[in-house]
Amino acid sequence: MAIATWLACAFFAAVIAKMRNVDEGGFVYFVLGVLFGPFALIAACVAPGYPRPFPKAIKTRLCPFCLSEIKAAATVCRHCQREVLFAQ
Ligand SMILES: [Zn+2]
Repeated sequence: MAIATWLACAFFAAVIAKMRNVDEGGFVYFVLGVLFGPFALIAACVAPGYPRPFPKAIKTRLCPFCLSEIKAAATVCRHCQREVLFAQ
């Protein structure tokens, strides 16, 4: 039971880290979670560098049809598959 809880912490730490685009990446937090359990889960929640509207150096813009975030150079929206004009 305790081990299952521990592994669940590791798993969720990884998921949260990945969802939040934490700099170290999800896998690192999974390892940390295995080592530190709930503490890694907390760390994944409070790790710096997020939330960032524009992660890393990738420039993004909004699809005019579904208003999802897509890459600035995209010609087809990856969310709604519609053709979007390359314009800035
Ligand atoms: Zn779209």
